[in-house]
Amino acid sequence: MNGIRIIKDRCTGCGICVRTCPFGAIEIIDGKAHIGDKCVLCGACVKACPVEAIVMEKEEGKKDVSGYSDVWVFAEIDEGNLKNVALELMGKARELADELGERACAVLIGKDVKEKVRELGAHGADVVYVAEDDRLADYRAEAYAHVMAELIKKYRPSIVLYPATRVGRSLAPRIAAALSLGLTADCTSLGIKDGMLLQSRPAFGGNIMADILSPNTRPQMATVRPNVFKKKEGDYSRKYEVVEFHTEIPESAMLTRILEVIRTGEEGAKKIDEADVIVAGGAGMGGKDGFEMLEELAELLGGAVGASRKAVEMGWAPKSIQVGQSGTTVSPKVYIACGISGAVQHLVGMKESGLIIAINKDSEAPIFTVADYGIVGDVFEVVPKLIEEIKKIREKSA
Ligand SMILES: Cc1cc2nc3c(=O)[nH]c(=O)nc-3n(C[C@H](O)[C@H](O)[C@H](O)COP(=O)(O)OP(=O)(O)OC[C@H]3O[C@@H](n4cnc5c(N)ncnc54)[C@H](O)[C@@H]3O)c2cc1C
Ligand code: SF4
Ligand code: SF4
Repeated sequence: MNGIRIIKDRCTGCGICVRTCPFGAIEIIDGKAHIGDKCVLCGACVKACPVEAIVMEKEEGKKDVSGYSDVWVFAEIDEGNLKNVALELMGKARELADELGERACAVLIGKDVKEKVRELGAHGADVVYVAEDDRLADYRAEAYAHVMAELIKKYRPSIVLYPATRVGRSLAPRIAAALSLGLTADCTSLGIKDGMLLQSRPAFGGNIMADILSPNTRPQMATVRPNVFKKKEGDYSRKYEVVEFHTEIPESAMLTRILEVIRTGEEGAKKIDEADVIVAGGAGMGGKDGFEMLEELAELLGGAVGASRKAVEMGWAPKSIQVGQSGTTVSPKVYIACGISGAVQHLVGMKESGLIIAINKDSEAPIFTVADYGIVGDVFEVVPKLIEEIKKIREKSA
């Protein structure tokens, strides 16, 4: 077990560690430091102690990480369709595999899913593992996790990527727990460093980017949200191999029965996920009326309305259309940010958009740092003018 302890004989009770610990986990009791339950084993106090009285004990006997190869993608299917994010991840897996000199592979689990192999092959898969079973028609966490874990044990990939969708977020931690692996959630960038998967994601509320490596376990596993990576053009002349995989699914993994699938709160999210144009509003919209104006502009442009978290918190827009770190990541062709300051947590969810237009009355607003076109002005003057101009153009061309 990993742990931390104080060597009492060495501790002078100076209190430096108490001030160093970002989690308030240390107190001085009877002149000696004591580490409590809040400790997350960050290690900051170990370095800070001037007399080396704090020791971190790491679990020895790490897993043998040799003999693992290939970059895998769990290719999620939803209502019979391959999710876009599966192809986005396939493109990234191809890049990583090329850099490592390994194969890029996809895993398809479900019922009658084999027809999807062509698409995965075209988007970079060298091998597609197919696990078909009537009982896997609908996503069932325990059954899917069992099949995936068996596949991993048999074929030993070095990296497995999952979409950070509801399915991916439910599946990946189960596999990590079952196989005692690490897992980095919601990565915003992936690369290779020293032969390992370099997983980057926002940390401490998005104020810093953390680079994470998993040197001690294989496979290295990460989830990535839809729209973080761009889907590449498919090459349907690519050659690929299909490997069918069968495994017994124990009854204990089949205890959940799907009676009915009811989709809730998805409408808005789906719309901004797929829209080519997003007109997003923030606190600068002043209220629900401001959002009605954005609805009109979005409708004229054939797009969808998005919102900043502040606008959602004010109750002006539903959570399902929130763009950003704790909302949806989007990459439309055009993103129009109206009265949004451009906090890092918002930018992380939209900065990959094709063309970014920002309207803000503060010329110093950070949103302008990512904007292709910036309009310094009042949204209540600029947006109505835009609507008027678009209508005029439409009328002329009608
Ligand atoms: C862990 C965590 C996760 C978060 N996740 C998200 C997330 O997913 N998405 C998200 O958006 N935020 C998120 N946030 C919140 C984020 O930090 C900001 O607070 C939020 O994005 C600010 O929203 P805003 O730009 O609408 O509001 P503000 O920052 O208040 O900006 C309003 C802007 O409107 C401009 N303005 C005002 N009136 C007008 C006008 N009449 N015309 C033109 N411009 C005007 C102002 O100049 C200002 O720049 C998160 C924060 C944390 C800590
Ligand atoms: S910094 Fe070291 S010596 Fe000082 S109180 Fe903490 S453990 Fe003891
Ligand atoms: S390891 Fe980190 S969290 Fe734990 S006591 Fe030390 S500074 Fe605090």
